[in-house]
Amino acid sequence: MPELPEVETVRTGLARSWIGKRIDGVDLRRENLRFPFPEGLSERLTGRTVKDIRRRAKYLLIDLDNGDVLLSHLGMSGKWTLDASDCEGKHDHVVILFDDGSMSVYNDPRRFGVLDIFSGTSHKLLDHLGPEPLEEWTGKDLYEKLQKRKSAVKISILDQKVVVGVGNIYACEALNRAKISPTRVSNKVKKKECDVLVAEIKEILAEAIRVGGSSLRDFAGVDGTLGYFIHQFKVYDKEGKDCDCGGVIERLVQGGRSTFWCRSCQK
Ligand SMILES: [Zn+2]
Repeated sequence: MPELPEVETVRTGLARSWIGKRIDGVDLRRENLRFPFPEGLSERLTGRTVKDIRRRAKYLLIDLDNGDVLLSHLGMSGKWTLDASDCEGKHDHVVILFDDGSMSVYNDPRRFGVLDIFSGTSHKLLDHLGPEPLEEWTGKDLYEKLQKRKSAVKISILDQKVVVGVGNIYACEALNRAKISPTRVSNKVKKKECDVLVAEIKEILAEAIRVGGSSLRDFAGVDGTLGYFIHQFKVYDKEGKDCDCGGVIERLVQGGRSTFWCRSCQK
């Protein structure tokens, strides 16, 4: 599943290709992805020029010249291919033709992606979202959110109301770097620890985006399924391996998902 750094890299790639282009046609090969496509989607897009491309959590927001916003979420397996040479793949569900003759194709084998269009700033998928980790988000903000929570701190930082876009891998890695046990009760985590955890989350996401940005030069398409850019994870999927501190990395299950951590250095 693409995480925030991957989606940010896709955003950069789409922005380079799409901004300033006019949409000349949209071919929808099905009626839905995760949800039905909104009625008249092709008509609302055709003739519009792309003004900007933003990201909110893992949603791509494509601003059009009439104020409408095209919302794209890659789900589990979605990807946009820019300057596509063909669109006959079994899972090529959406084709956008631009005024310069180029074609972008949305491919999504598992079809958990979302494509929607809206006007204004409010959308049901966006309105409940918590703060962006790479924007004005501080240890104090996290600390205040954790005060009301008795769940494990790892569960809390995966909650999109606490902070958006921190997926399972980055949550494990950030907690290891911050030396905080993933099992700690949220409202027992101290303010100073929240400062460190927020700094580590920002750093690990920023690192991944930097790696993603440099990898973007090497491939022609924008591929949300490339996988994770940081290949040298310290704890994720390293059960039984050594932690940097000399301890051993363990796996446990929290909220139905694997947590990798080291009880020697994470307290
Ligand atoms: Zn350790």
